[in-house]
Amino acid sequence: ENLKTGETFEETYDKLVMTTGSWPIIPPIDGINSENILLCKNYNQANEIIKESKNAEKIVIVGGGYIGIELVEAFAESGKQVTLVDGLDRILNKYLDAEFTSVLEHDLQERGVTLALNQTVEKFVSNESGVVTAVKTPVGDYEADLVILCVGFKPNTDLLKGKIEMLPNGAIVVDEYMRTSDEAIFAAGDSCAVHYNPTGGSAYIPLATNAVRMGALVGKNIVSPTVQYRGTQATSGLYLFGFNIGSTGLTENSAPHFGVEVRSVVVEDNYRPEFMPTTEKVTMKLVYEVGTNRIVGGQIMSKYDVTQSANTLSLCVQNKMTIEDLAYVDFFFQPHFDRPWNYLNILAQAAVEQERKLAK
Ligand SMILES: Cc1cc2nc3c(=O)[nH]c(=O)nc-3n(C[C@H](O)[C@H](O)[C@H](O)COP(=O)(O)OP(=O)(O)OC[C@H]3O[C@@H](n4cnc5c(N)ncnc54)[C@H](O)[C@@H]3O)c2cc1C
Repeated sequence: ENLKTGETFEETYDKLVMTTGSWPIIPPIDGINSENILLCKNYNQANEIIKESKNAEKIVIVGGGYIGIELVEAFAESGKQVTLVDGLDRILNKYLDAEFTSVLEHDLQERGVTLALNQTVEKFVSNESGVVTAVKTPVGDYEADLVILCVGFKPNTDLLKGKIEMLPNGAIVVDEYMRTSDEAIFAAGDSCAVHYNPTGGSAYIPLATNAVRMGALVGKNIVSPTVQYRGTQATSGLYLFGFNIGSTGLTENSAPHFGVEVRSVVVEDNYRPEFMPTTEKVTMKLVYEVGTNRIVGGQIMSKYDVTQSANTLSLCVQNKMTIEDLAYVDFFFQPHFDRPWNYLNILAQAAVEQERKLAK
């Protein structure tokens, strides 16, 4: 159907490419249809958020993933009274372990943000005009002029339900050439599941990085299978109140949910020598598989921009490198940038030392 003209038509295809993407999850909570409960997915919604927030003093963000946190930062910076509600006990729990989130949570609270963690929204309360006024959880009531829901995404794949293989959440399963279980249908982006290298299984990780890679591969492979998808580590970066944060692969907290037994090390170091005019602390974590010492994830955070090191760790995960490989990998030294041992070498050496002690 042409949504502008209302005209409907039928079209045949030799090959069909599904890139229908994702849509925010809207949980069936009492009062969810009240005015001023907004979603944050596309350009129009962003404009609506900007417009409505001008007249809002108290803003409640539901969902502490990267979108929710970026909104919290933006509204806190513009002087709003911000509350963040999340059902889990830590912010950004998919990407970071507690060593990192506790620092960020402390920082958010210092800036006046109310963290309502470990509590799920039960009800949205509205006034007689149907405009939201409060968010109710089992722990408390949080006043709100504006609520933004950021509790995750679901694939837009109802059109093909029952016709091709999907994960239980509706994400289309594709092979390494982006082919679905129907040989004439290809798919890419947020409508699909991806091959998650840390576990070797399928996962739903809606990121632009996956979307652009998969889209390019549909083009390469639509005539004949030519270039294989290399999978993903779900590598991501975030800037929050002066902290540069990068993360890749499994966290220590998430690994057991994926059935991977891991150990980890956390190291704090300065990114370059103290004799330089300035330096800055870097906090890093390496997560590796017990038994094989294969690196399955890493996290890094600093006031200095070290986020490209998350990409280096991503490469380690994709190439199944071990802590021993990373401990002695060749990284350059120049005091403007780092030490004779780059901080990632030092991180992996701490893991090797931990294993040496445990083996005794
Ligand atoms: C606020 C926000 C911030 C983000 N930041 C990052 C980031 O920093 N880094 C990152 O990697 N990712 C980020 N993402 C995720 C990224 O935007 C998505 O992974 C990416 O847009 C997916 O692209 P896509 O083309 O697969 O799907 P979409 O962008 O969802 O596009 C799908 C398109 O298909 C259309 N469509 C759906 N159904 C139909 C139909 N039946 N008929 C016709 N058209 C249809 C939709 O209207 C839409 O235009 C962010 C997402 C959000 C919401």
